[in-house]
Amino acid sequence: MRFERYGIGIAKGMALTFKHLFRHPITTQYPEERLTVSRRIRGNELVWDKEKCTGCATCAKSCPQGAIQIITSVKAEENKYVVEKFEVDIGYCIFCGLCVESCPYEALFMSYDYERARYRRQELVMAKEGLLLSDKKQPSGYARPKVEATLPKQTLLLDRDKVKK
Ligand code: SF4
Ligand code: SF4
Repeated sequence: MRFERYGIGIAKGMALTFKHLFRHPITTQYPEERLTVSRRIRGNELVWDKEKCTGCATCAKSCPQGAIQIITSVKAEENKYVVEKFEVDIGYCIFCGLCVESCPYEALFMSYDYERARYRRQELVMAKEGLLLSDKKQPSGYARPKVEATLPKQTLLLDRDKVKK
């Protein structure tokens, strides 16, 4: 107990500080340097496959935030629904993934993207044109094992070359 009074505790703390002071940095200088994210990332938007979607609205009913709005019309001659409106308010979305998990036709995906910061809330409302699955919109492998198999392996900080073993 008496040793504590003579600064042993401070010396221990400083020893730990110096140990880390000379360690190679493992931080990432974002946005210049980017790591590959998890293949199952729940990115901050949704990706919608128009061709597979039947307009059943299961995703909208599963959403705890009420963030998905779907309006359909009936195409009687083809005995199917036409999706007139498919809109997601990303400002309300909590990226829980329940809509993606519940879609019976695998027509909805979480996004692989994680950069959707905007200055205005209304810019976070995504209409169907903005959600469409395309070459520029990479879906995440979350709840979609076939997509997951096509994505690159996640980079962990410890995997990087510049980190000393
Ligand atoms: S990820 Fe969750 S909160 Fe976001 S739209 Fe889907 S169900 Fe709703
Ligand atoms: S659950 Fe799937 S198929 Fe049904 S409306 Fe939503 S995205 Fe379309």
